[in-house]
Amino acid sequence: MRVVESIREMQTHCESLRLAGKSISFVPTMGYFHEGHLSLMKKARETADHVVVSIYVNPTQFGPKEDFSKYPRDFGRDAQMAAGIGVDVIFFPPNQEMYPDGYQTYVDVEKVTQNLCGISRPGHFRGVTTICCKLFNIVKPHTAIFGKKDFQQLAAIKRMVADLNLDLEIIGMPTFREPDGLAMSSRNVYLSKEERSSALSLVNSLKGAQKLYAEGERNAAVMIGQAQRLIQSARFTEIDYIKVCDAATLEDVQEITSEAVMVLAVKVGKTRLIDNSVLGEELKA
Ligand code: AMP
Repeated sequence: MRVVESIREMQTHCESLRLAGKSISFVPTMGYFHEGHLSLMKKARETADHVVVSIYVNPTQFGPKEDFSKYPRDFGRDAQMAAGIGVDVIFFPPNQEMYPDGYQTYVDVEKVTQNLCGISRPGHFRGVTTICCKLFNIVKPHTAIFGKKDFQQLAAIKRMVADLNLDLEIIGMPTFREPDGLAMSSRNVYLSKEERSSALSLVNSLKGAQKLYAEGERNAAVMIGQAQRLIQSARFTEIDYIKVCDAATLEDVQEITSEAVMVLAVKVGKTRLIDNSVLGEELKA
C-alpha cells in the first residue's frame, strides 16, 4: 500500500491508472478508523480495480468552537487497518497542500444543507462539499463511497455531483453499528462509560419511531415527542435537534406522505452525536 502526500503525485498516479483503463473507487475520511469506515473500503474494493482512501481532518468543516484540534488521529493504526482491506493508496495531504496561502474558492450547495446540521453548524457543509470537490479533482475516481450515517452530507454531495456535472457515481452505504446498536463514530472514543450507555438513547429512539411507523403512525410530532422523552430521560444528554424530514429535500414534514427520515443530533456530555433512520427501512442492530 502506497502513502501519497502530494496532490501532484496523486493526480499523476490516478491519471495513469485511467489511461491504463483501470477503474478507481474512492473513500474520503477523516481517519481514526472503525468498522463503519472499513465497510466503505470493502465496498470500494468490490467496486473497482484500484482503491484510494483519503485521510484528512478538514479544517474548513469545523466551527471555531468545535473539536478540530482534538479530533482523534492515529495514522499508523489507520494505515494497518486499510492495508488489511487491500486499499491501494492512502492520500494523506498536509494542510498547506490543500489550502495554500491565498486560497479563496468554496462550493456551496444551497437548499439541502439549510436544515438540521446546517442550522447548528454554520459553514460545515460548505467545508465538506469544498473538500470533497477538491478530492474528486485530485483522485479522479469513477465511484466514491459515503456512509448514510451522515445523511445530510450524502445528500449534499449527491446534489453537488449532479449540479456541477462531476463525472463520478456516489454510492451510499448503510450505517454500521456496535452490537448494541450505537452508530459507530470516531467521536465515540470521547464518551465515558456512563455517557456511552446514555448514547444508546439515540438508536433506541429511532427504533421507537420505526415501531410507531410500522403501526401506522404518520404524524411527525408524535414520533418526535416519543424520541424527545426517551432521550431526555437518559443522563448527560442535550438535544440539538430531533426531526422528521423528507428524505430527498431534508425539509421538515408534519404528516408523512412520502419517504421520510428521522434525524437526530444530541450532545452526550461534551460529545455531539448524530444518527438517523429512513422510516420503513430496516434498522440493523
Ligand atoms: P468521517 O471519517 O467520520 O468523516 O467519515 C468518513 C466516511 O465514513 C463518511 O462517508 C461517513 O459517512 C462514513 N461513516 C462514518 N461512520 C459510519 C458508520 N457508522 N457506518 C457507515 N459509514 C460511516
